[in-house]
Amino acid sequence: MIVDFHVHLFAAGHLPRRWFDALARYLASKRPATSSREELAAKLEGRILDPDATYLFADLDAAKIDVVVSHPLDYGVALGEPRSSPEEIVAHNAALQKRYAGRYISFTGIDPRRPGAAEFVRSTIRRFDLNGLNLYPMAGFDPASPESLAVCRVAMEENVPVMFHSGGAVFPMRARYGNPALLGDVQAELPDLKFIIGHAGFPYHWTDAVDVARRNPNAYLELSQWYKLASRNYGKFVEILAEIKHEMGTERILWGSDHLSGPAVGGDKSALTAWLDCIRRLPQASAEFSQEDVDMILGANAKRLLDLDETGHA
Ligand SMILES: [Zn+2]
Repeated sequence: MIVDFHVHLFAAGHLPRRWFDALARYLASKRPATSSREELAAKLEGRILDPDATYLFADLDAAKIDVVVSHPLDYGVALGEPRSSPEEIVAHNAALQKRYAGRYISFTGIDPRRPGAAEFVRSTIRRFDLNGLNLYPMAGFDPASPESLAVCRVAMEENVPVMFHSGGAVFPMRARYGNPALLGDVQAELPDLKFIIGHAGFPYHWTDAVDVARRNPNAYLELSQWYKLASRNYGKFVEILAEIKHEMGTERILWGSDHLSGPAVGGDKSALTAWLDCIRRLPQASAEFSQEDVDMILGANAKRLLDLDETGHA
C-alpha cells in the first residue's frame, strides 16, 4: 500500500487573498512581468483549484498511489479571512473522505487561537470521522502555547495524531514557529501525544526534527518537500536519510509529497512518480537501506499509525 501522507486540496475561497498577493509578489520578482502583480494574484487561485479532487485522483492513479492524507489549512487568523470559514473548509474535505472512502483520508484543521478551537476540533473529528488534526504554527503561534496544547489534548482524547507543519515557511508566514525544536516543549508536556513533524524541518531544520523525534516512540517525521533536494542532489538526500535512520530507524518515517492538483499544476508537471522512485531506489543507492525500509516509509508506517485496513479505510 502506497500512502501519500501530505496533500492539500483547495476549492474557491479556501485561501485568503493575501496568500495569493504574496505569491504574486514572489513570482513577479522571478520573471519579467507580463501582467501586473494584482492581475497575477487574481489569476493564481484558479490554477490550483480541484474542488472534486478530479485532478488529484488522475495524478494519484498515474503514480499508483493508493491513499492520500489531506490537511485542511486555516490561514484566516494570520492573513485575513478567506471567503470560506474553517467549518466549510473542513466539511469540504470530509465530504471527499466520504465520497472517496478508503482513498482520501482527511484531518481536521484550525488555528488554535480562534475562540472555540478545542470544541471545533472535537466536534469535527466526531461528526465527520476525521483521522487527525493539522496545525500550521507558521501562521504565527507557538505549538507549545496553551491554546495549541489545548487542541492537542483534544486530539489525544479522540485518539488521533497531530500533524505540525514545520521547516521553511512560505512568505509571508512566520518562519521561527516552523522550527521543530519548539515541538520538544509539546512532547515534554504531552508525552502520549502521537504527532507528525510535517516536512521533517525541510530544508534547514531537519537536525532539530530528528533531535525531537529520535527518543519519542510517538513522534514521526514526514518527508514532503524533500523531493526538492532529492531531485537536485540525490546523494546528499540519501546521506541525510541514512543519518536520520541511524538516529531513529525507519519505523517512524512517512512519505508525503505536499502535492497540489488543479488545472495548471500536477498532470504532466506531477513529480509524484519521480519522488516515489527516489525512495524505491534507496536500497540500490546505499547499503544502509533495505526493501523493508522502503515498504515502511512508503506506506506500512502510515497504515499502522492511522490504523488503515488494506483498502485504506481508517
Ligand atoms: Zn502542507
